[in-house]
Amino acid sequence: LNEYSSKLLENAVNELSRLPGIGKRSALRMALFILKENPVYAANLAQSIVTMRNDIRFCSQCHNISDKEVCEICANPKRNSGLICVVEDTRDVIAIEKTTQFDGHYHVLGGVINPMDGIGPNDLTIANLIKRVGDQSVEEVILALPATVEGDTTNYYIYKMLHLFDVSITSIARGVAIGDELQYADEITLGRSIANRLPFDQNR
Ligand SMILES: [Zn+2]
Repeated sequence: LNEYSSKLLENAVNELSRLPGIGKRSALRMALFILKENPVYAANLAQSIVTMRNDIRFCSQCHNISDKEVCEICANPKRNSGLICVVEDTRDVIAIEKTTQFDGHYHVLGGVINPMDGIGPNDLTIANLIKRVGDQSVEEVILALPATVEGDTTNYYIYKMLHLFDVSITSIARGVAIGDELQYADEITLGRSIANRLPFDQNR
């Protein structure tokens, strides 16, 4: 017998502890909680995860996580399609939506350029962003990527690809927590930095 006295418990703990920020201790607490609850909870939990994993897709326009071919933000006629906010991932969309300061569309890159991790422009959705700007009447592209070397590299790459188009390129204030820092981002600051965005300066 292992330290958990049950192979079944050990398997569950191992799977749960793969989740980000969840160590073996927390995973054990979760597993024991699930065992105490009504079995219906375990079934609903498992079912919701499997269904999400199998059925979720990415919006064909903005690449945000969506239940449909086109996400609710892109499909909403009240939103300004001439304004595209470029973000790293879905967490940023959620954070910006929470500020209620932005009524445009998004473009989710799915990461940032990171040569150390072997992530180049072609691994991201940058080509589709260029296509959107070329095809639609986009007036402004707002860069809202993390204030890191990788974020800066990505900003500059996008700027280089877009600066010949008739579109203004702006950026949210530097130092505003976005991306991995998101959970600490203060909504008022983030909202303000979107409202008071500045022209993108490549030399910054
Ligand atoms: Zn969309």
